Amino acid sequence: MQHYKRTSDPKQSAKPFLGVHFKCCNLYCRIYRNKTETAYEGRCPRCGKSIVCPIGEKGCSSRFFEVK
Ligand SMILES: [Zn+2]
Repeated sequence: MQHYKRTSDPKQSAKPFLGVHFKCCNLYCRIYRNKTETAYEGRCPRCGKSIVCPIGEKGCSSRFFEVK
């Protein structure tokens, strides 16, 4: 059986998020990782502007992201 290892680690239930400041509406909110865990994805709760913040070396090493 070559099933991929399932992440049943209880720590995984705490979904990693990124704090984002949406300058468009001057709002602060959290965005979460996408399914493939290649980026943080989310949208402005007010105007719906979607953002993607790639996870990587020079991606989101910080826990804070600013949207212009
Ligand atoms: Zn907005």
